[in-house]
Amino acid sequence: MTDLNKRVIIVGAGIIGSSIAYHLSQEHFQVTVIEKNQPASAATGSAFGWLTAAVEETANDLPLRKIALTDWHRLEQEIPDLTIRWNGSIQYTRDIKHYRAGESALQQHEIRELEPSLHSPPHYARFMPVDGSIDAKEATLTLLEAACRQGATLLSHTLVSGFIFENNKIVGVKSSHGTLEADYIVLACGIDIPTLANTINQKVPVLSSPSILLRFNSPQHVVNRIISCDDFEVRHARNGDLLAAEDYLTDKSLVDIATEAKKLIQQNLAHTQTISLQHQSIGYRPIPEDQCPIIGFIESTQPVYVAVMHPAVTCAASIGRLVCEHLKTGIQPQILNKYHPNRFNA
Ligand SMILES: Cc1cc2nc3c(=O)[nH]c(=O)nc-3n(C[C@H](O)[C@H](O)[C@H](O)COP(=O)(O)OP(=O)(O)OC[C@H]3O[C@@H](n4cnc5c(N)ncnc54)[C@H](O)[C@@H]3O)c2cc1C
Repeated sequence: MTDLNKRVIIVGAGIIGSSIAYHLSQEHFQVTVIEKNQPASAATGSAFGWLTAAVEETANDLPLRKIALTDWHRLEQEIPDLTIRWNGSIQYTRDIKHYRAGESALQQHEIRELEPSLHSPPHYARFMPVDGSIDAKEATLTLLEAACRQGATLLSHTLVSGFIFENNKIVGVKSSHGTLEADYIVLACGIDIPTLANTINQKVPVLSSPSILLRFNSPQHVVNRIISCDDFEVRHARNGDLLAAEDYLTDKSLVDIATEAKKLIQQNLAHTQTISLQHQSIGYRPIPEDQCPIIGFIESTQPVYVAVMHPAVTCAASIGRLVCEHLKTGIQPQILNKYHPNRFNA
């Protein structure tokens, strides 16, 4: 068996697991994706889907963020069914202190021209023309379908509960449908990574951070791009619905949060008087405890790999390519050096 048809089990069919599955199956690895529910049923299913290149120069994930959109552009070429809208984003807070690389400053009259629905455009805003938006659930299913066309297998409704060993070496996983053997096991199971890592005494601290996605039916077109400000964050979905991302507040019910969000949207944006709430969901975002991506072999003597970060929708295309390159060549891509999981177990 050559390296390129080695068996890989990917635990978790969110956007990260699906991108890794696509890239590995393209390189003729024998890929099995194991998902405890349905694909994109956890954080990915509630993602707002903002693909952004705007990042602070001091951010831990700066190298990944810099290449993230290029990889999505590549995937768009490779997989025609993948739909991304490259409409850009406009962002403003009460006090803009500086502009990030790639952002330009918009003045009020320009904001009014670009987004005529805004009742009171701010004096200044950040404009990121290269940003895009993607339906993260649809993209995950598209990546999985492409992976399956390339030979991957998807096992939904199958829980991975631990690992199987042979002479102290991990050789597969225990699942609710029996044991499965593999040469590599990739943990792409978001907030459940710590539990599985724990079963082999490895610490991979990933926090679970709730956030809310609201979907409004919107009879009229409201915004031309992503608009994010202190009061709301909105964009249109492909079918015209208006999507809004909201903070999760423990002292308020989901219904109250949705009602207040709708009110703010209607106060600030024209053509929104007839919007109606279609769906609301809380997604639990996997966020590494130190805010730095965790990507690499969990421990030097075992074939268990981990991939988790925030914001993962933005970076999923790059993560898939880099993990594939690592497993294919056996050499860790340089960009992943500072994301190694061994920083927690040193
Ligand atoms: C409201 C909201 C807005 C967001 N907006 C953005 C945005 O605009 N841009 C952006 O980049 N990110 C955004 N995010 C964050 C983004 O959704 C996450 O970073 C991303 O979806 C994480 O993907 P993942 O594949 O790592 O994890 P998940 O999507 O959580 O997938 C993990 C999968 O593993 C499965 N699983 C877990 N344990 C097991 C097990 N033991 N066996 C088998 N399967 C298992 C789960 O069922 C799940 O399907 C947002 C999130 C939310 C909630």
